[in-house]
Amino acid sequence: MTMTELYSTEEFERKYTYSGTDLGAVWTKEKTSFRLWAPTAKSVKVNLYKTGNPGVDDRIAQIEMKSAVAGTWTAEAAGDMNGVYYTFTVELEQGVHEACDPYARTTGVNGQRAMILDLRSTDPEGWEDDHDPNAGKHITDAIIYELHVRDLSSDPSSGITNRGKFLGVIEEGTHTPDGIPTGLDHIKSMGITHLHLLPSYDYGSVDEAHPERDQFNWGYDPVNYNVPEGSYATDPYHGEVRVKEMKQMIQGLHRAGISVVLDVVYNHVYEGETFCFNQIVPEYFSRTHNGHYSNGSGCGNDTASERSMVHKYIVDSVKYWADEYHIDGFRFDLVGLLDVDTINELVDSVRARHPNVIFYGEGWSMATELTKPDVAMATQRNAWQTPNFAYFSDTLRDVLRGYVFDDRAYGYVAGAQGQEELVKACFMGHPDWCPCPTQTINYASCHDNMALFDRLTMSAPDASFADRVRMNNLAAAIYMLSQGVPFLQAGEELLRSKPLPGGGFEHNSYCSPDSINSIKWNDLSKPEYAANAEYYRGLIAFRKAHPTLRLTTDEAVREQVFALEGLDANVTGFHLRGSADDPAAAIVVLYNPNKTPTTVQLPKGRWNICITDKTAGTEPLLTVEGGVSVAPISACVLTLEPVTSPLSELDLSEKKLPLLLGAAAAMTAAVGGAVAYLTRRRKKDN
Ligand code: CA
Repeated sequence: MTMTELYSTEEFERKYTYSGTDLGAVWTKEKTSFRLWAPTAKSVKVNLYKTGNPGVDDRIAQIEMKSAVAGTWTAEAAGDMNGVYYTFTVELEQGVHEACDPYARTTGVNGQRAMILDLRSTDPEGWEDDHDPNAGKHITDAIIYELHVRDLSSDPSSGITNRGKFLGVIEEGTHTPDGIPTGLDHIKSMGITHLHLLPSYDYGSVDEAHPERDQFNWGYDPVNYNVPEGSYATDPYHGEVRVKEMKQMIQGLHRAGISVVLDVVYNHVYEGETFCFNQIVPEYFSRTHNGHYSNGSGCGNDTASERSMVHKYIVDSVKYWADEYHIDGFRFDLVGLLDVDTINELVDSVRARHPNVIFYGEGWSMATELTKPDVAMATQRNAWQTPNFAYFSDTLRDVLRGYVFDDRAYGYVAGAQGQEELVKACFMGHPDWCPCPTQTINYASCHDNMALFDRLTMSAPDASFADRVRMNNLAAAIYMLSQGVPFLQAGEELLRSKPLPGGGFEHNSYCSPDSINSIKWNDLSKPEYAANAEYYRGLIAFRKAHPTLRLTTDEAVREQVFALEGLDANVTGFHLRGSADDPAAAIVVLYNPNKTPTTVQLPKGRWNICITDKTAGTEPLLTVEGGVSVAPISACVLTLEPVTSPLSELDLSEKKLPLLLGAAAAMTAAVGGAVAYLTRRRKKDN
C-alpha cells in the first residue's frame, strides 16, 4: 500500500485524526504555543525569524518540537512573541522541508513565513459591537453583488484614494470628475444587501513585493487560506496590517448596512507540491495517485476533502473567518469537488454560532479522482443532501443569455424560442436540480464568462444599442424577481463591458489588466447608463418591498405562485398571491421577449403598474383594470391595489384582525395612525 492510499484508510484516520482547536501558533502575553499536525515526520522544528521576508537570513531561534497526540508536534516559546515570524522545518522520508504554517493567522510578504499574532490587537475600534446588519433575515432576502476588490477603485474615474486596496472599498464621498458617486456610495445607493468579494485570502499569482507592477489576478490560487491577501493591504510586509485593514473594511461595510461574503477556493491550491500542508505531510492535502495529481479543477490539483484532517482544516478555516472576521457568507468555488459531509459540517458548525451566515457555490459535477470509495460530492444534483447550501443556477443563466460555452448563442431575452417552461421553472425557484428556492442563486452575469452586455452584443449583433439595453434589463427583471437568491456582477447595472483592444470582448479576464477589469465610473455621466443603474435600483427596491418574491419553501411557492396560461408565444407571466406581510394583495409579473408588444388579460381587480420597460420601482405609475399591454423586449410588473375601504367599515374584532393586517400595513400616511394602532394591537395579542 502506498502512503497516499494509507492516508485514506480507517486505521490511519483513527490513529491520526486530531480534533483539538489549538493547531498553529496560539499567542498569549506570557508565551506562544505551537502545534503542528505532521504524522509522517521524523522530527519537526519551529524557526523564529525577525522578519517575514522570504530568503532573508534573520533567524532568531530554532525550537525542537515534541511528538504529541494524534500525529501532532508541540513546542512553546516564552515571552510576548507578538509580531515574530515563524516557519516549520519538517524532516521526512521525502527530505527536509521548511514550510509555512497551514494555520497561519497572518504572514509576511508573499505568504512564505507565518507571523505570531495577538489577534485582539488587530481589532478596529468598536469591533466587539460589529455584527451582520442583515441578521435575522433569510438567504432569499439577500441581493448579492459580486466584486473584485481592485475593480472598484482601479479606474481613475473612481476618485478613490486607496486604489486596489481593502480600504478603497469603504471610502465614502468619492465621485467621478463629473461629481457622480462611486465606490461604496454607489453600492449603498443600489440597495444590495451582500457584497461578495472575489478571493481575498492570500493568493499566489500577484507578487506582493512589487505593487508598482500593474498586476491583476482574480485570485483563484490559494497560498494561505486563513490570511488576507497582502496586495490588498497598504503594507504587505508587516503581517498585522493586512488583518487590521481587512477588518476595517468589513466593519465599514457592516456600518453601511452591507453584509460581506467571501469567495473561498478550498477545491484546489496555487501549486499542489509547494502548498505548505503538502510540504509538511506530502500529498496529503491533494488527491494524488503515485505522484499524479487529480485535476478536475483544471487548476493542477484537487483537494482531498474526504480525508479527515483536510475535512477538519476546511471546517476550521471557514469557522475562523466567520468568528474572527465576522464574515456573513461564503461562496465556494467549484464546490462539486468537495464532499457533502465537509460542506454540511462547516455549515452546521458556523451556523451554531452565526445562524444567518449564508453558503452557496458552484455545484458543477466534475471528474475527480477520489481517494475513498462512496463519497457524495456537493453538486447541484446532490442539492437535496446539503439543504442549507445554495448553488448557482446555470439553468437560469443559460436560459437568459444562451449556452455558456458558445459566445454567440442567444437566450430568451434575445429571442430564443421555446424557453417558456424553463423560464417558469426558474421563476418558481425550482430548476430540475433544485429542491427549494433557498438553494438557487439566480444570475445573468458573474466574473466568469462575458459580461452580460458583452454577451448580448455578441449574440444579438443586429440589435440596436437600445434593444440590447432592453434585453439586459429584461434579464435583470427575470433573475431579480424570481424565487431564489438574486446575484449580479458589480457593474452589470451600468452595462459593464470588458472590450479587448483588438475588438471583441474578454470572456476570461482572470489576469487581464485593470484597463479591462475595472469598473468605468465615468460611464455614469452618460444618461442611458445612469438610467440603467436607476432601473436596477428600482428592481432591487421592488424585490425588497415584497416578501412574496422571497419565499423560503417550495410548498409556499406552490401555494402562492402560478404561471399564467394562454399567453402569446415566448411570453411568460405569473400571478403571485401576496404573503400576509406583503403590502400587495397580489403581484403579476409579465415577461415579453418578443419584438412586438403583447396584451395580457389581468386577474380581477385594480392593478398598479410598478415596473415597465422604462421604469422600475415600488411606486405605482398607473392603475389598470382588465388588460395590460407589455412593450417589446421588456418586463411589466403590477401589484393588486390594497384594500381601500375606510377604516370605520373594517371589522376590528379579534378574530378577523390578523387577516386585515396585511392590507392595513399597505395603507400609507393617510391612515398612519390607525396602522400604528393595529400594529400595536397585534404585538400585544401575540
Ligand atoms: Ca499573496
